[in-house]
Amino acid sequence: MLKLRNLCKVHRSGDIETTALDHIDLDIESGEYLAITGPSGCGKSTLLGILGLLDAPSSGEYWFDGHNVAGWSEARLNQLRRGRIGFIFQSFNLIDELTVAENIGLALEYGDVPIRERRSRVDEVMAKLGVSHRADHRPSQLSGGQQQRVAIARALVSRPALLLADEPTGNLDSAHGDEVMRILRDINAEGTTLIMVTHSPSHAAQASRTLRLLDGRVLVDAMAA
Ligand code: ADP
Repeated sequence: MLKLRNLCKVHRSGDIETTALDHIDLDIESGEYLAITGPSGCGKSTLLGILGLLDAPSSGEYWFDGHNVAGWSEARLNQLRRGRIGFIFQSFNLIDELTVAENIGLALEYGDVPIRERRSRVDEVMAKLGVSHRADHRPSQLSGGQQQRVAIARALVSRPALLLADEPTGNLDSAHGDEVMRILRDINAEGTTLIMVTHSPSHAAQASRTLRLLDGRVLVDAMAA
């Protein structure tokens, strides 16, 4: 599904250049559950941003569903991202001026889902994530665990093939964190490819494969026993 070849990313700010990813080769099959770990600054977020088509590599190849997308226009990348990729962030990234249902529905606004179907898709994911009774609430009226469930519902409403999660439990207590991990495992078990950045060794151990980065390189690439 995803293939990186000789991929490098150099961040430039002013005169300073930082090599965030240093000649990465990586193959990710459809249906995998991959945890990306490593110390702060090793390139985890940069890698996730490139995999999610939010950021472009400096050099090398990124193949997504058989297309080398390095060099694609922003518009074409946006279209691919909206159709195929969902994101979950540590900070939930919900809009507090909108209700829970509106936050989730926003993800369908630019797609080709007919208006009639949007409401039923939103209702379906709210039920799946157990937040239907909060449909008309604002995100700030919910607990952190509930907000993350809403954010997961928003990521799933467009039925992505690939779900990217950046420290999804980073702002949650351990009980809510464990609950989010269970939900993610179920989503993967239903067939969605899942790639998660995590600092937690116990959460990384739940993935079927762990990628450990150091200084922008792959130090360990291990399948779970
Ligand atoms: P991690 O997610 O593992 O903490 P990052 O991918 O955020 O690592 O960062 C990798 C390296 O790239 C770090 O040295 C970081 O300082 C640098 N970096 C990340 N983003 C930028 C940016 N936008 N501009 C300049 N340097 C950056």
